[in-house]
Amino acid sequence: MAFEKIVKPFIAALTPYKPGKPIEEVERELGIAQAIKLASNENPLGPSPKALAALQGALAGIARYPDGGCFRLRTKLAEKLAVAPEQLVFGAGCDEILELLAKAFLGPGDEVVYGWPSFAMYPVVVQGMGATPVPVPLTQDLVYDLDALRAAITPRTRIVFVCNPNNPTGTSVGAEAFDRFAKSLPEKVVLGIDEAYFEYVQRSDFPNALDWVKRRPGTVVLRTFSKIYGLAGVRVGYGVMDAELAGYLERARHPFNVNLLAQVAACAALEDDEHVTRSRDINARGVAYLTRELAQMGLRTWPTDANFLLVDTGALPGVCDALLARGVIVRPMDAFGFRGALRITIGLPEENERFIKALREIGETPK
Ligand SMILES: *Cc1c(COP(=O)(O)O)cnc(C)c1O
Repeated sequence: MAFEKIVKPFIAALTPYKPGKPIEEVERELGIAQAIKLASNENPLGPSPKALAALQGALAGIARYPDGGCFRLRTKLAEKLAVAPEQLVFGAGCDEILELLAKAFLGPGDEVVYGWPSFAMYPVVVQGMGATPVPVPLTQDLVYDLDALRAAITPRTRIVFVCNPNNPTGTSVGAEAFDRFAKSLPEKVVLGIDEAYFEYVQRSDFPNALDWVKRRPGTVVLRTFSKIYGLAGVRVGYGVMDAELAGYLERARHPFNVNLLAQVAACAALEDDEHVTRSRDINARGVAYLTRELAQMGLRTWPTDANFLLVDTGALPGVCDALLARGVIVRPMDAFGFRGALRITIGLPEENERFIKALREIGETPK
């Protein structure tokens, strides 16, 4: 341990993120073929065919640096969202926007408030700057507890994150509760609204987060091309905020943080509304199917506004390993304190059926 004494203690204290296992690795380890991955909330339909075609056309250009300002993507997206181009900050995934916020606003002694269980990157980016994570338990129904979040804010609070819909529960908060919360916040706290699953939301009273960017300086809406747009592998996400805030994040970022292929793919994906609609439809049908089947098996799920379901399999210990042995990769929730629970990404109909069949087999196997 040669560098133990000089590494920053708050970096040494971090636990490296454990992503869902790649399909190839699971197949190799278990000696099986045709595993399915329903663990990382990726789009089971894949990327838009328009994005794929655009990528193929762009490949020969990768000897050049990308456009550091993401001009084409910025113009297109600003128009679509009806915001000014300088209100957008792009990153290598919306993870990078979280990092930029941390880099710009956090140091030792600063606090960041967010619900828990929620997105695993919040504590990582906060602790990575030596600041203090302040996780606030969800309600009994596993919904963000906005009153408790408000109560946890102190003069040391720099950022508060609301993940809506929340990963890993799928639950969301409605406009009334959210608007009351946003109104109650002190001026000098950055409000980060993580809408990674925005395009999947069905509830009609979902908060209008972009409106809050207009109403409240210091509000950031985080979105991504990794989920419904099916571009997780090229890494591109963005934040929408007031131009002052965007200016600070622009100072903090690397000049070529969004690669050339990511920019090309995102531009093309924005033009394929049909792919987004198909993805949303297949997801809604998958949610309905899985919710019904799981209820029939007596397993509890929570209402989801996203492309995944939290499932309490309490009575089935070791269920994730047993699913893995049957070639179905899901995300165990033990690390979040949900013992015996799992998070499953909504797949194609045949993938959802395979999950249910495997789960039935496991339930019938004597222990
Ligand atoms: C997936 C996800 C993100 C970020 O994904 P990127 O691939 O980095 O864009 C952010 N927040 C939540 C809640 C997510 O689930």
